[in-house]
Amino acid sequence: MSDAVPHKPVPTPRRKPKPAAGEINGRKLNPATMMMGHGFDPVLSEGSLKPPIFLTSTFAFENAAAGKRHFEGITGKRPGGAEGLVYSRFNGPNQEILEDRLSIWDGAEDALTFSSGMTAICVMMLAYCAAGDVIVHSGPLYAASEGFVAKVLSKFNVTYVDFPAGASREELEAKLEQAKDQAAANGGKVAMVYLESPANPTNALVDIEAVREARNAVLGEDAAPIAIDNTFLGPLWQRPLEHGADIVVYSLTKYVGGHSDLVAGSLAGAKKWMDPVRALRNTMGGIVDPNTAWMLMRSLETVELRMQRAGENAAKVCAFLANHDKVEGLGYLGMIADSRQQDIYDRHCLGAGSTFSVFIKGGEAESFAFLDSLKIAKLAVSLGGTETLASHPAAMTHLSVPDERKAALGITDNLVRISVGIEDADDLIADFDQALSQV
Ligand SMILES: *Cc1c(COP(=O)(O)O)cnc(C)c1O
Repeated sequence: MSDAVPHKPVPTPRRKPKPAAGEINGRKLNPATMMMGHGFDPVLSEGSLKPPIFLTSTFAFENAAAGKRHFEGITGKRPGGAEGLVYSRFNGPNQEILEDRLSIWDGAEDALTFSSGMTAICVMMLAYCAAGDVIVHSGPLYAASEGFVAKVLSKFNVTYVDFPAGASREELEAKLEQAKDQAAANGGKVAMVYLESPANPTNALVDIEAVREARNAVLGEDAAPIAIDNTFLGPLWQRPLEHGADIVVYSLTKYVGGHSDLVAGSLAGAKKWMDPVRALRNTMGGIVDPNTAWMLMRSLETVELRMQRAGENAAKVCAFLANHDKVEGLGYLGMIADSRQQDIYDRHCLGAGSTFSVFIKGGEAESFAFLDSLKIAKLAVSLGGTETLASHPAAMTHLSVPDERKAALGITDNLVRISVGIEDADDLIADFDQALSQV
């Protein structure tokens, strides 16, 4: 076997091929096209068409000087991360290819992946906040995000000011002035503006453009990054960086993963906003594992197909539900009643999504009867999967929210949240029809 050549010698341990141009004859390629191969060169992996899963904890340097150069990137002596692969808490081929592909959807310069959406959010906030600082955030937020700000960051004397989704530019400026005073009194700064739009489970939208203008007017440009959780509409139906956000946050567990079989998260934005977060992730860990990264690359090949189908299904299902005599109303972005919300939708959104609220006539008993009668839709929290899911926020995801706050947020006992999947729309309508008849 001495003459066997096990594989083509690789000239350098860098996995990155020359960056794909992303265009042909001046035509900019659609992200959907680039999901099949961007960022991966089969020549570096025995000709394997798909990236192998790189199960290794560490990477061999081509020489000592390269090892030194790579560590300059890891330790922040040179910003922007390592030029090469070093150690699997910092980076790896599957994670880097995934990050390259994710950044395409949001038109971002850089992206970072994490072991969950919450890891992404927590590491990002920790990277930007010091004692005395203030976070300004929209409300409501995903319960764990709200809890991290209110119960964990508060231990380090980081405080917050919140505002309702839908706030006008004037209201936002007043909140930012309040936050500035609060920060000055605490010896800190306004460290971050954190948004979630649409909000869970109300689907209330935040005016990102107004937030940007207010931030620039009160704090100055580049003073505190505007981060937005785009899990409900991204990456297809809302592109927040185009409307003035600096950092886009995802729970990849939802639409991007899309099959309810993994947990992961990501951030995307300019390198200067990613660098401090990458440095803390290098220290703490929390990067997505190679197997999950590989699964996400497979998911990204069909994300546009799946989301389009789910969006079409939701429109058909909502058209049916809107006219049903057991339904009191819908919280669906395709049927907005409020003109301010409709204006934000028209400026920011490219589609109404497939996650919405149904208000059943009655209360908890009627809602539970509906949920318990569903045959196709599964009774589970989460969203964005191929299968349709239904849940009762007041009794499940938002059970710990105090009653007054629930009332203020519109989380009532007759609210059922539905995430429509990619089944046949008429089958779903038949299922909802028979379940409503049991109410
Ligand atoms: C699920 C979710 C999260 C948390 O993501 P995990 O991947 O479960 O950690 C954050 N924000 C929103 C809007 C979510 O739906």
